[in-house]
Amino acid sequence: MNKLLGFTAMGIFAAATAVTAAEPEKPWIVDRFDDVKVIRYEVPGFDNLTLKEKEYVYYLSEAAKCGRDILFDQNFKYNLAVRRTLEKIYTSTTDRECDDFKAFEKYLKKVWFANGIHHHYSNDKFVPEFSEAWFREQLSRYMKYTDRHIDNDFLCAIIFDPELYPSRLNQTQGDDVVITSANNYYEGVTQQDVEDFYAKMVAADGNNPEPISYGLNSKLMRDAEGNVVERVWRVGGMYSPAIEQIVYWLEKAATVANKQQREVVEALIKYYRSGDLKDFDDYSVLWVQDTKSNVDFVNGFIESYGDPLGRKASWESVVNFRDEEACHRTEIMAANAQWFEDNAPINPKYRKKKVKGVSAKVITVAMLGGDCYPATAIGINLPNADWIRKEHGSKSVTIDNITYAYDKAAQGNGFMEEFVLRAEDRERMAKYGKLSDDLHTDLHECLGHGSGQLAPGVKGDELRTYSSTLEEARADLFALYYLGDEKLVEIGLIPTLDVAWAQYSKYIMNGMMTQLSRIEPGKNVEESHMRNRKLIAEWCYEKGKAENVIEWIEKDGKHYIVVNDFERLRELFGELLCEVQRIKSEGDYEACRALVEDYAVKVDAKLHNEVIERNNALNIEPYGGFVNPEYLPVYDKTGHIIDVRISYPANYVQQMMKYGRDYSFLPSLN
Ligand code: ZN
Repeated sequence: MNKLLGFTAMGIFAAATAVTAAEPEKPWIVDRFDDVKVIRYEVPGFDNLTLKEKEYVYYLSEAAKCGRDILFDQNFKYNLAVRRTLEKIYTSTTDRECDDFKAFEKYLKKVWFANGIHHHYSNDKFVPEFSEAWFREQLSRYMKYTDRHIDNDFLCAIIFDPELYPSRLNQTQGDDVVITSANNYYEGVTQQDVEDFYAKMVAADGNNPEPISYGLNSKLMRDAEGNVVERVWRVGGMYSPAIEQIVYWLEKAATVANKQQREVVEALIKYYRSGDLKDFDDYSVLWVQDTKSNVDFVNGFIESYGDPLGRKASWESVVNFRDEEACHRTEIMAANAQWFEDNAPINPKYRKKKVKGVSAKVITVAMLGGDCYPATAIGINLPNADWIRKEHGSKSVTIDNITYAYDKAAQGNGFMEEFVLRAEDRERMAKYGKLSDDLHTDLHECLGHGSGQLAPGVKGDELRTYSSTLEEARADLFALYYLGDEKLVEIGLIPTLDVAWAQYSKYIMNGMMTQLSRIEPGKNVEESHMRNRKLIAEWCYEKGKAENVIEWIEKDGKHYIVVNDFERLRELFGELLCEVQRIKSEGDYEACRALVEDYAVKVDAKLHNEVIERNNALNIEPYGGFVNPEYLPVYDKTGHIIDVRISYPANYVQQMMKYGRDYSFLPSLN
């Protein structure tokens, strides 16, 4: 066992260093604590932007950092007071060697990561592992003369009393979700008050074809007379000191923007000043119409996941620009869409006569802020207003440099060494894994789902509960089959078919084994993407068994799955695609049910337990987040910016302390 691990680690190391032989790679994971790893990301292509674009990115990035306090306050009314107290003690205390301090530091790192005292994903209040006595001692030493608006007893209750504010977001049916959620979107009102308040507004709007997203940018509370009122987040309203800073940087950005960008930025500024949600819609329409500009951004009150009633939006920002190379990839695919369709290994009568490939936009993130920092999504699909999506469309993008950083951070976590038996497979995956994942996703999304056609008279709803599993399998098989086609080398999408083989090994291993780690013991496979992967892998295993195409190998009491014959596996993908397309085209429910139930659902309990045990032993943190790069403008003698330099700080604590010092504009209580 040990020998195997040692050998493997060398294999990965050799592959990784071959690419950057000159200088050793900086570590991608900059911090890890509790269930979190913090990763740095790079911004390839920044230096190729024009000076104006660089300036634009710089100003928008400053704007992205200025709203951080807003999110803390939105998440919980006392978050800013708690954060500032913790930071003051953290920088002041001399008692830094004891266990209490170490637990305190971990707690502070978690508060930074979650933008508050509740877990960013589970929403549960953090349980401190340092003693209240130690904390009170620090308070009495360092917090004596500062006005924190809340007294020490209450502060300690907030941190240490598990009964007080236990959840940021309670969605339990039957509870008053407004009263029982600790977020700061409502105060002194019940769920019924909120529902009545907005029902009246919506009714007054009548049958407006462009319905306003009422409540999106305000806190709902009671005034001195007891009336239910909105406090709007705008210049001159709630959160004004932070919003004024955002507007300041947006105004700077407008001076270097192109015409379309300037209109977008000016519309956003207008909305931040008025707080009028009609202005927000005007801005959103302009934003979605700008598909040409290289640099783009999100900045505002956008997503409403944090409100149990789904009305109030948290503040967030993302600054980004086009990843030309990746966009070029999906354009090549779209340009060759008809060739792929005409050569699909399916019955010719189910091929589309005229196919239209979708070219997806891929972006590089330059700055994350608010609810996108440190934890962020790997794709953006906005705006949220349904009528704008219908009338004006939406922008859907994937973020390449973030997935790249995730991928880099995962290398060396021991996963490959644990589950991939052969060194040559690991090396291929280390070298081509990211490219093969990207291409698989592109082929699946840009071509796979759009391919094929139904037989006359088939409506498309015949497969009922099995339809999404079958549809995902169809798109995956299309992608897998073509990934191993020489055509991809010919049109310049891959340098060698090894890219495909890397994906084949990984896909089969995931489908038959490693994805089981995400399923609770005793449960079967339910989720349709997971079912689809299991279906494909198990079917190919069985059909190729006589030729030993895919093989189970047991070594030192552990099970491994290996692919012995990639060319033959590709043929099997083609055969299954043919059958899956037939089922869909003919709406053959019985065949579909049998395929899914036979191959995609049932879990072998012994293997399941083994996978969970081996995965848990690796101690891989389930959550990831990022530190941002820094942008430094270079000025000439007359005060003009002549360049913007980018650097990559690799210290999570320093970045958080710096943001707390330089980008904190709100009072502790708002
Ligand atoms: Zn899909």
